[in-house]
Amino acid sequence: MIEKNYKEDFPLLQTNKTIYIDNAATAQKPAVVIEAEKRFYEESNANPLRGFYPLSLAATEAYEDARKVVRDFIHADSEKEIIFTRNTTESLNLVAYSYACSHLKAGDEIAVSIMEHHSNILPWQMAARMTGATVRYLNCEKDGTLTDETLAAGINEKTKLVAIGQVSNVLGCVNPIKKISKLAHAVGAVIVVDAAQSAPHMPIDVKDLDADFLAFSGHKLMGPMGIGVLYGKEALLEEMPPFMTGGEMIQSVTTEGAVWAELPHKFEAGTVNAAGAAGLAAAISYINKIGFETIEQRELELTRHAMEGLAKIPHVHVIGSEDPANHTGIVAFTIDNVHPHDVSEIMAADGIDVRAGHHCAQPLLTYLKVYNTTRASFMFYNTIEEIDAFVETVANVRRRMGYGE
Ligand code: PMP
Repeated sequence: MIEKNYKEDFPLLQTNKTIYIDNAATAQKPAVVIEAEKRFYEESNANPLRGFYPLSLAATEAYEDARKVVRDFIHADSEKEIIFTRNTTESLNLVAYSYACSHLKAGDEIAVSIMEHHSNILPWQMAARMTGATVRYLNCEKDGTLTDETLAAGINEKTKLVAIGQVSNVLGCVNPIKKISKLAHAVGAVIVVDAAQSAPHMPIDVKDLDADFLAFSGHKLMGPMGIGVLYGKEALLEEMPPFMTGGEMIQSVTTEGAVWAELPHKFEAGTVNAAGAAGLAAAISYINKIGFETIEQRELELTRHAMEGLAKIPHVHVIGSEDPANHTGIVAFTIDNVHPHDVSEIMAADGIDVRAGHHCAQPLLTYLKVYNTTRASFMFYNTIEEIDAFVETVANVRRRMGYGE
């Protein structure tokens, strides 16, 4: 495999020879994305959705065109269902403040998987505190599996909202969203899908998943930082109150109150990140050009190669599934008696960028009794040679820390 050198598309990877395998934290940006953002400021910069002069109309067009690209990317019915936010975190908080706080009450339950990123835990803890509802955690098996028994017990007649990641940012496992949304809907609950780690790696069809809400960040799928997406079913978004109030999200304002703007603008208060949206649209077009089939195949091959290499090294333990296909390019591991911060410093000394720590998933690591790991995460633009260099450094960590082997 790996005929084309995709790194050529990424300016940073041309000028900086680092081995960047911290893609789950944020992805590198291809030139087409950087150019799209630059082009907005060079050719269309004005405040979108406000002026009637040509520049403002051009800015509005760039912003609204990007929304249509996102709509098609996740197969939503309407651009009214696509809300631009800053990131996944803001998208999930929007649902928590606007939907959960206005729909939940004491005695209700919010079902949250134990493997969630803090961004998909803390908003629900907050909503529970504000409404009197309870957060109920769905514990997973060591490989990330949520068993039928766990799901049946955790999603019950008290459940009003289920919050679940499509892919764990630590285990890399893919959760069965379609099945979980059926279970949620059977008890009258809504399902909120955190797609931060899935959107860059696999096709998403919100209708097929029957997701009520789905959130992702532009920066993890090679778009700019500061632009994110919340998808919501139109009927739900229609009846939800705004999350933030201010300019551009109203039809009219009096000294007593306001009539809110139509969707999606009701949820986009203040000046929007139009350049970021244009960059995100360029990232999606870039992904579409390569195709998820190629992306998935390359990332699986890289992951398999890494896991096979790590499996041969004594004292190294990969967490999660044994099947590389259930890792979505994410390989978190421990090395006996070496702290992940030391591992990542040794990696950095060899020019390899990985993440160390709890990966904003402390409840999962506490539950798994692992506490800290080193995480490598691959994208299709990584190469087999880079994986070999990574495995070789891992193989030498203990020796470099002063252990015999
Ligand atoms: N959910 C998951 C699964 C993530 O991996 C991340 C980012 N690490 C987030 C949510 C939060 O994304 P952001 O910081 O872009 O809001």
